[in-house]
Amino acid sequence: MPDAKTLLQEVSTYLPPRDVKNIQRALEFSAAAHEGQLRKSGEAYISHPIAVARILTPLHLDAQAIMAALLHDVVEDTSVSTEEVAEKFGKPVAILVDGLSKLARMEFQTTEDAQAENFRKMLLAMARDVRVVLIKLADRLHNMRTLESMSREKSERIARETLDIYAPIANRLGLHDIYQELGDLGFKNLYPNRYSVLHKALKAARGNRREVIGTIQEAIQKCLDEHKIAAKIQGREKHLYGIYLKMQAKSMPFSEVQDIYGFRVLVDEAPTCYLVLGLLHGLYKPIPGKFKDYIAIPKANGYQSLHTILFGPFGVPVEVQIRTHEMHKVAEAGVASHWLYKSQDSSFNELHKQTHQWLQSLLESLSQSTDSVEFLEHLKVDLFPDEVYVFTPTGKILALPRGSTAVDFAYSVHTDIGNRCVAVKINFELAPLRTELINGDRVEIITAPHAHPNPAWLSYVVTSKARNTIRHSLKTLHLEESVMLGERLLNQAFASLGIKPQDIDATHWEKFLKDSGVKSRTEVLADIALGRRLNMVVARQLARLGDPGSPEHVPLHGVVTIIGTEGLAVQFAKCCRPIPGDPIIGIIKKGHGLIVHTHDCPTLSRGRSGTDEWLDVAWDKHINKAFEVSIKLIVINQRGVLAKAAAAIAEAESNIENVHFTKDVDYTTLHFTLQVSSRQHLANVMRNLRKIPEVVRITRSKGTPTQ
Ligand code: MN
Repeated sequence: MPDAKTLLQEVSTYLPPRDVKNIQRALEFSAAAHEGQLRKSGEAYISHPIAVARILTPLHLDAQAIMAALLHDVVEDTSVSTEEVAEKFGKPVAILVDGLSKLARMEFQTTEDAQAENFRKMLLAMARDVRVVLIKLADRLHNMRTLESMSREKSERIARETLDIYAPIANRLGLHDIYQELGDLGFKNLYPNRYSVLHKALKAARGNRREVIGTIQEAIQKCLDEHKIAAKIQGREKHLYGIYLKMQAKSMPFSEVQDIYGFRVLVDEAPTCYLVLGLLHGLYKPIPGKFKDYIAIPKANGYQSLHTILFGPFGVPVEVQIRTHEMHKVAEAGVASHWLYKSQDSSFNELHKQTHQWLQSLLESLSQSTDSVEFLEHLKVDLFPDEVYVFTPTGKILALPRGSTAVDFAYSVHTDIGNRCVAVKINFELAPLRTELINGDRVEIITAPHAHPNPAWLSYVVTSKARNTIRHSLKTLHLEESVMLGERLLNQAFASLGIKPQDIDATHWEKFLKDSGVKSRTEVLADIALGRRLNMVVARQLARLGDPGSPEHVPLHGVVTIIGTEGLAVQFAKCCRPIPGDPIIGIIKKGHGLIVHTHDCPTLSRGRSGTDEWLDVAWDKHINKAFEVSIKLIVINQRGVLAKAAAAIAEAESNIENVHFTKDVDYTTLHFTLQVSSRQHLANVMRNLRKIPEVVRITRSKGTPTQ
């Protein structure tokens, strides 16, 4: 295997001998496992993992990643298990291989744009370790290079998938070369005719201009020399797919594409970039409106550069990119530049471990300069993904709110599936219905024809569709069933209070019915089943009524202590979002359960329906739970202020659950939903926010109409 030798030579240029040895071991192991398997091209299978690893060596990926690249198909395609990989090559390598095997199992099935977008997001979200994505991209790149041996139909599908999913990810991660090659190969295979026409046109155009271009390069060099600016000037050719995308996006003919040829000027310091720009604009006239400052406002993937287009001699438009050597490294290798150029900054050393950390650094780079709208987009997509992406058994991708359970999934597929669901298989294994779904899960709901929704589901579903449908179905249950169910729920509540049901006798019930003015026990039990009464509240009241130690007439609505983990039985009003420390009041709303508001919640003074019952509630002393709270920030419009606010909130150890904003001419109002543990905690967060100079006003929002 000559390629194997080359690979080992390549890694030995940047990895210590011990690592090289391990890589060799992985190589031999993989070759033995794939023994006898052939690629479609007829080559031995091992040529593929070796080629994948070799795509990664120019990026100087670490030994674990190279080993995982060599082993990436063994679990999926041979009898080797993940455990065996862990045993032989260590757990980190096994985790990488496992991630790759999971991705391999996911067939991307439709070509709708939305599906592609979901898939991209899922891929990024799933791969907790960015190395998995890098290896996956290398895998795809090698498959694209060897696409000829596939049938026309299959190669078209793979090419489309590459353009829809993998090329944008490579671009997003700033992997310049991989992106270009994936794009060009995808384009070539999907639209062979357009590709060859464009290819010819481009070649001709470049040929015609070669001489002029030489003249321009000399002129630029001379100009910079005169001003004693040390700079490296490179000619650059834009790749085909990039030109094609531009023609498509702006529906322009090839003759109008201006930046088919250009220059790159690399200098030492950022300020010099602007100096060079000024000199070049003096040398040739710039085309108005074409200047872009990606140094002040970097692209999402961290790319920084100045772009301008000049009117060259004979009317030849020339695109020029000006950046520092440092910026150039990031421009070429993107996220991989962390391996490629071991940064002195110690915060970078950790970066290769997790995508999450990479995203943090993205946040930092964005926070310095990008405008808030763009920033918010990234914030939403990358840092606080509020959706999970899961597969139906047929391979369709569903996006559900974060925290969704198997029951939410069932209802989002179809109301009937929700109402009839009895069990779920997640990734082919039975799991509880309450299981929270994570990115990439394959979810299969098992139904039974006579099954009914279970009121207990209400305590963990998060989607309103599931919640409303369950409530509606419960209402239509027969009385008999309701009573049985109510009894069960009440007994459950007794159990959790440490009370034996037999300790509650007829006298308890008599007092209870008298105090609450209800006719029968049946009615109470039915009420519980239908969510009109809370099992916990009834159980506590019953228990207290019978306690010989307690006074005869304990007020029926004695103080109920809130511990925050009651589940559906207690809801915190979305209007005022009470948090521990706030004076609170409870309202029993028919069919909704106990809803806790703050004393000063404006919605209380407004609409209180006659059927609602008020209940005194108080916070328990020991609460260990995060609560949601809303705050409103008015800030002066300035770049990076949203990032500063996000950083201040993070520093106070709070999480952002949601953020949206309204923008005026001078001011922006930011609405945050945060997680805090108490009023004290909230005060800390607000104190941190006040330190930001651009912040004009902070208020806690209560009673906003958006419930
Ligand atoms: Mn592969």
